[in-house]
Formats: sequence, structure tokens, C-alpha cells
Amino acid sequence: SNKKLAVRGLSAYYLTERGPVKAVDAVNFALSESESLGIVGESACGKSTLGSALMRSMQPPGKIVGGAIVLGGDDIVKMSDREFGKKVRWKKIAMVFQGAMNALDPVYTVGSQLKEILEEHGFEGDVDAKVLESLKQVGLAPAVASRYPHELSGGMKQRVVIAMALLLEPDLLIADEPTTALDVLVQSQIIALLKKLHREKGVTVILISHDLALVSQVADKIGIMYAGQLVEIGSTQDIYKNPKHPYTQALIAAVPRLHSGEKKIRFIPGSPPSLLDPPAGCRFYPRCPHAMEVCKQDPPEFETDTGYVRCWLYDPTLKSMSH
Ligand code: SF4
Ligand code: MG
Repeated sequence: SNKKLAVRGLSAYYLTERGPVKAVDAVNFALSESESLGIVGESACGKSTLGSALMRSMQPPGKIVGGAIVLGGDDIVKMSDREFGKKVRWKKIAMVFQGAMNALDPVYTVGSQLKEILEEHGFEGDVDAKVLESLKQVGLAPAVASRYPHELSGGMKQRVVIAMALLLEPDLLIADEPTTALDVLVQSQIIALLKKLHREKGVTVILISHDLALVSQVADKIGIMYAGQLVEIGSTQDIYKNPKHPYTQALIAAVPRLHSGEKKIRFIPGSPPSLLDPPAGCRFYPRCPHAMEVCKQDPPEFETDTGYVRCWLYDPTLKSMSH
């Protein structure tokens, strides 16, 4: 379909004086317009960088260094900044950045901040009506338009930033940790809102989070990131019922602890490798209970029923598979 998203070999590095930090390394996935995707991984695995790369909003020294992001037939990596800004940013792809709700301008009312975005982008309809409609879409009363950010609760502020992202009716909405710092009840309300926008408005949602249980409430598909790579992708059901990559298996086993809000995943001894000049071979090798000699070589993507897994245990030519 026309809104289909295909990400191929996408690499995004931070070009530091000490060398490239490979935050996103040759990531592949595809989504049809009716699908929503969760990107899950622990902090500093590259998931926020992936979101920013998709939105072409990486700050120097961050840079997309290779690959393609094809949306509706166009590779947005190849576009000039001008073309991307004019045609794609906010209009086709919008993002709710991590912590955005704390970055609302304290001096202006919600309504005037929404209006400003519409006017900046040359919106040609009834601006006031559009502001009220977009507030309604995220479950906020018309009166919120005349409020200042400090007069709103955290959950209301998060709804406002989602409304902002949706103002120009993008096909794809990326939300990076949209429920962090909200209490559990408000978290599930925001998740329910994203689900509703996906189901009813047909917005493709990419939800980035450290919280697998939370993501699985919205996502049709889940991608697991580890040390800058997408190590497994599959249907949410498949990831839950039949996790394949040893890292995914460990994540699933830890779900109750993750859900209690623990930020760092401590269930596997060791920590991910540095993304500055990572060693050759599987990046999970030093922590993996199944590591084999072959794992010193970089595992390719082995196809599964609903996606792929980057792990030598699933090499169909290996006869000694013991999983
Ligand atoms: Fe473990 Fe080898 Fe699979 Fe890496 S490729 S996750 S080291 S079994
Ligand atoms: Mg992040």
C-alpha cells in the first residue's frame, strides 16, 4: 500500500572524536499501514536514535550513515532537508519526543501553541475549529485550549503533545517513552489513546519503550533492540509465546519486574558492549548462555514465521540445534 514503511539497512552513528558510536546498525523492518510496531530494549540500546533517524531529526554529531527509509514509495533518506521539511516532517511522519510534555512553552496557552503549528505550516482551514477538533481527538475538553501548561496534569500535557504531533494528520506517529513519569493509571489511559488513534484513525504507530508489557498492549509487531541492532522482530503474540533470541527470552522472563518500573534490566549478568567500535560477532555473545564458536561471527537474519531473528541457534543448516 501507499503508506507502507520499509526500513532497509538503516545505520545511524554518532561521529565522535574517538570514532563512530554505532547506535543504529543495519536495521531492517517493514510495516503495512494497518500495523503498529513496538521497539523495545534497555537504555542506550539505540531505540531513541532509531526514532530520531526515522524522523530525520538527529542532532550532530549524530547522522544517518547508510540505508533507506521508504515511506509511500519515496526514500526519505535521499531527500534534501528542504524537501523533507516541506513534504514529510509532521505531515507524513510525526514524533512525540521523549520528555516533550515537559518542553511545552510555559508562556503560551495550549490553544495558541497548537495554532502556531498550524499557521507555521500554512494550514488553510478554520484554525480554531481544527484546534478544538484535535483536542477532542485526544480526549481533552475545549476549555483546555485556554489553559497554560502549568495548569495541566502530566497526563493532560502528554495528550497535548500527542495532539500537536497529529495536527497535520501524519500517516506515521512515533512515540518515544510516552508514558515515562506518569502514574500507572495515566499510563494505561495514554496507551488506550494510542490504540484508539491506531484503530480508528488508521495512524501507524511506532511505540518506543523499555517496557515490553506496556508496548504489547498496542503493538501488532514487536522489535527487540540490543546494542544497536534489531535482534528479533515478530508478531506480538509470537514474541510473547515463542521468544527466540536468548535476549528476548530473558526479557520475557523478566516482564513482571519490568512492569514494576525497574529501569535497568539486571537479570542477565554483564552489560551490553560499547557501541564505540563494538567487537565482531554476536553482540550478545559475552552474556549468552548458549554461545557457541560460530557466534564469534556476526549472525545474519534468519527468517521466522512472523519476522526474523539474528541468532545462530536458528541457522537451518546447523544440525545440532538444541533449543
Ligand atoms: Fe547467543 Fe550465539 Fe545466538 Fe548470539 S548468536 S544470541 S551468542 S546463541
Ligand atoms: Mg531513550
